[in-house]
Amino acid sequence: MSKRRLCPHCERPIKTCLCNEIVQMTCGYQLIILQDPKEAKHALSSTPLLEKSILNAKRMVGEIFDPVELLGEDWQATSLLVFPQKNSLNQQQAIEYDFKHLILLDGTWRKVARMIHLNPWLSELPSFSIDNTKASQYLIRKSPREDGLSTIEAAVAVLNQLHGNTSFDPILGAFNKMIEFQIQAMGLETFENNYQERHQKNSLAINHDNIRSNQP
Ligand SMILES: [Zn+2]
Repeated sequence: MSKRRLCPHCERPIKTCLCNEIVQMTCGYQLIILQDPKEAKHALSSTPLLEKSILNAKRMVGEIFDPVELLGEDWQATSLLVFPQKNSLNQQQAIEYDFKHLILLDGTWRKVARMIHLNPWLSELPSFSIDNTKASQYLIRKSPREDGLSTIEAAVAVLNQLHGNTSFDPILGAFNKMIEFQIQAMGLETFENNYQERHQKNSLAINHDNIRSNQP
């Protein structure tokens, strides 16, 4: 991991602090991000930005979580999991479902599958899956997610689906700036040679059938 000094608020290097870009929005429930420890160490994780962009959002790093500790005694009736499961709610059902906690899992597809396995209570929750129609801006890092999105993009897609009238796109400003800084730091030429082509290939490969057929 980098030893560069980090801004204590946005957790980016001081030179590329994103505090001025962070827009904080509210949603009517608490966003809880369960993050795999390995993902938490990644220098280009978008999750710290996500956590600071949604009021009262909470990030928990670990592998095994206690639902009562995390969500309270009535966890089963008050939480919605963002994950494609057999009986996922459709958009209308999810909008109408009265939940207090929206749970997002953050890690590679394999780590997320492991998280589900280690926390069987997650499978007991009503779930909702992302309708990803936008290409990712995550140009500089191969997305760890099966759908090719960064965590913050996945969260925005879900929040937009759950809120007909509010767009959460403004919170992507800080993320886009992070990408811009990173491309500047590596030099445009390096970026174009090493990342652009791969990104285009990735974009073409992403579709829902891929995502569904890879479900455990
Ligand atoms: Zn900062």
